[in-house]
Amino acid sequence: MNYCNVKYFDIANGEGVRTTLFVSGCTNRCEDCFQPETWDFHYGNPFTSTVEDEILASLSPYYVNGLTLLGGEPFEPSNQRALVPFLRRVRAQYPEKTIWCFTGFTLDGELLRDGSHPRCEVTDEMLSLMDVLVDGRFVKALKDISLRFRGSSNQRIIDLNETRKQGSIVLWDKK
Ligand code: SF4
Repeated sequence: MNYCNVKYFDIANGEGVRTTLFVSGCTNRCEDCFQPETWDFHYGNPFTSTVEDEILASLSPYYVNGLTLLGGEPFEPSNQRALVPFLRRVRAQYPEKTIWCFTGFTLDGELLRDGSHPRCEVTDEMLSLMDVLVDGRFVKALKDISLRFRGSSNQRIIDLNETRKQGSIVLWDKK
């Protein structure tokens, strides 16, 4: 069983108004993590089919731009395995809405690198179901409160659709 918390009508974690799913469990242990309680894989509430249905319903209004995945760490392998079937449902029901994800892992250095801790049999599909990935651990020495959607300047906001098209990392540059 996976655990989570959900925030509805969130305007802080991605473009526009969103539903944000905080997935519990993180092994990154960044110094000064802003929510260390979410490192515990059993923090929050069970991620059940009822929660999935509630989140899907919350995405229905025209003014809700999409879904954001946050942590904890959505790309812990056990979390990926729970999220992929759910993300397929989101994509099928709302092809026009965007899916953002925040991860402490880097895309090219870890998620796409064979043998890394997070890379598993569903990682490629999970990435294929997303539009924007904010990647990299929070680094206390690089903390900058002026950054939009990022805690430290090493983190990147990656446009996954353009990255797939161009075959190299393209940053999301919408204001
Ligand atoms: S990846 Fe996120 S949740 Fe995990 S320790 Fe770092 S800041 Fe905290």
